[in-house]
Amino acid sequence: MAHCPECEAVIDMEDDEVEEGEKLDCHECGAELEVVSTNPLELRVVLDEDEEEEEDW
Ligand SMILES: [Zn+2]
Repeated sequence: MAHCPECEAVIDMEDDEVEEGEKLDCHECGAELEVVSTNPLELRVVLDEDEEEEEDW
């Protein structure tokens, strides 16, 4: 079990089900998180620095 570094929400996942470098989304704040360590389970927020403009209205 880990916590979102952004909003402190509990990220419900087993630490043997994820791998380092795996990405997931926080269900609370929608932040993109990356697994930086699995023992102990540690997450960091992935910063989207180059956003692609896919929604060009
Ligand atoms: Zn969050």
